Amino acid sequence: MKIENHRLYEDDGQPVEFTRTPNVSSYALQPQYLVMHYTAGRSVKSAVNTLTNPRVSASAHLVIGRDGSVVQLAEFNKVTWHAGRSSWQGLNGLNKYSIGIELDNAGKLEKSQDGSWHAWYGDVIEDAQVLEAPHKNYPSIPYGWQLYTPEQLLITLEIAELLVNEYNLKDIVGHDDIAPRRKTDPGPAFPMESFRSRILGRADTEEDEATYRTTANLNIRTGPGTSYPKLDVAPLPKGVRLEVVDIEGIWKMVNVLDEVKGEVDISGWVHGNYIEQI
Ligand SMILES: [Zn+2]
Repeated sequence: MKIENHRLYEDDGQPVEFTRTPNVSSYALQPQYLVMHYTAGRSVKSAVNTLTNPRVSASAHLVIGRDGSVVQLAEFNKVTWHAGRSSWQGLNGLNKYSIGIELDNAGKLEKSQDGSWHAWYGDVIEDAQVLEAPHKNYPSIPYGWQLYTPEQLLITLEIAELLVNEYNLKDIVGHDDIAPRRKTDPGPAFPMESFRSRILGRADTEEDEATYRTTANLNIRTGPGTSYPKLDVAPLPKGVRLEVVDIEGIWKMVNVLDEVKGEVDISGWVHGNYIEQI
């Protein structure tokens, strides 16, 4: 993809779908940050309808669907209304200083009496799509969160990288960083740390280069959380050597340096409490 005249284009030169929102300010954006959100809605269509409704004082620059589809609502040099009352690094009112991306996602989920998870608007979200984790702003309370899809995260990573480079943005933050008492989006299901380290190069290089070993039989999974499936080789035996290549909270993405059950070149996510540096 590419950006030209503050509009996003596909590789084949076609602009992404554009539905203009009237919910913009008249003054120019002074871009410094990329702010990530979830829609807490049912679909891209419902989000676009809301964010282009003149009676709703809300908008963003982009909405990205669970299938990886993208809708742009305003040019990237316009001030859109996605941050609300907010502050970050000495700035107040981040709409003036940021580009906003809304990800189609049901957001924080509620548990029904039968144990199933549902969105606030009633739809059941199947267990395989749910991460059970506390929010960093409320660390003692576990909630359910709808997972983002791999297609959605892949395209979002590509677009975030383009925006950071084109507008020389300083950082990628969540709505829950800049308005922590009001907001929980994009929440723990969004891999913020790996986005930041991939795009901004913030990985802890000292930790990256170190070698670790498992301190117990340890499950290894496809993603950073117990709701991700275990790899076939799981559990790793105690004492297996690892290198850490990515970090998401307490979860570490590791390359396994030893052969396990006849398998080599194993990579996956493990809980960081059960590895130690050697
Ligand atoms: Zn938000």
